[in-house]
Amino acid sequence: MKNTQRMFGAAAAAAALVLVGGCGSGDDAAQGSGAADDTRLAVVATTPEVADFVRTIGGGDVTVTQIIKPNVDPHDYEPTPADIQAIGKAAVVVKNGVGLEEWLDRTIESAGFKGTVVDSSQGVTLREGGHEEGAGHEEGEEAHEGEEHDPHIWHNPLNAKTMVANIEKGLSAADPAHAAAFAGNVKTYTAELDRLDADNEAAFARIPADQRKLVTNHDAFGYYVDRYKLEFVGSVIPSLDTSAELSAKQLNDLVTKIKATGTKAIFAETSLPPKSAEAIANQAGVKVIGGEDALYGDSIGAEGTPEGTYLGAERHNTRVIVTALGG
Ligand SMILES: [Zn+2]
Repeated sequence: MKNTQRMFGAAAAAAALVLVGGCGSGDDAAQGSGAADDTRLAVVATTPEVADFVRTIGGGDVTVTQIIKPNVDPHDYEPTPADIQAIGKAAVVVKNGVGLEEWLDRTIESAGFKGTVVDSSQGVTLREGGHEEGAGHEEGEEAHEGEEHDPHIWHNPLNAKTMVANIEKGLSAADPAHAAAFAGNVKTYTAELDRLDADNEAAFARIPADQRKLVTNHDAFGYYVDRYKLEFVGSVIPSLDTSAELSAKQLNDLVTKIKATGTKAIFAETSLPPKSAEAIANQAGVKVIGGEDALYGDSIGAEGTPEGTYLGAERHNTRVIVTALGG
């Protein structure tokens, strides 16, 4: 009797071990790309912002593989074999859109992906490339006019509301059984986006209008500038992507403009080297806001940090900008 019990106990312990091993050792489970026995909807999201939206709206009913890691420049991204594999296994791919993911179409093709692509930018009113009234773009800078739209749509929380609504629609179509949960999550999150927008407006209302001047590392904040009525003075990298280089003349023009407008600071970005920003700031006699205060222009923070969510990153940006402009 005693013997039988012990044997039974040993067998149960062995079975438990197998179960523990099965749960803990899945190397693809860590990436969230979906183990073979995982019945949850497998979603690939391109950028950190869009991935955060998908995690929020999908909750526990989806697995999310995020292609572009935090603080990586998305404008010249090259997909890896692991990215292609993840897309091949996914049921849904969610992208930012507006041409930000130039690599995606050919990657989807080589992955043999047959699922749904959700373009989160659908229905967002797009800004033209470059800024109105030629701000930051002096004569001879007409090359890109009308050719491209500004892809940094998420920096206006109202656009983020459209993006999460598109994501909810896409997830619900792919997994109707969980549509009610997705709808509940988007409702809660939309209220948070409204609160973010109201808090941003209140923060900038405390800065005199003639002090709301922004010089950034690259031209990522157009939607934010429009929404909160800031003045875009110029950017260190004079384009919507990060490939352009400032000519000597453009550099001098920007320095002159910073001085003439009484701009207080140049804001560095987490995904870009601050070197050029520092050189221009030195010449113009202003400070660079960087290091831990660098803005999340093309990214959000590392997972697990306060800035590792869209809401946290955007609140960081506004806090840094308002402090620098008001102080
Ligand atoms: Zn950008």
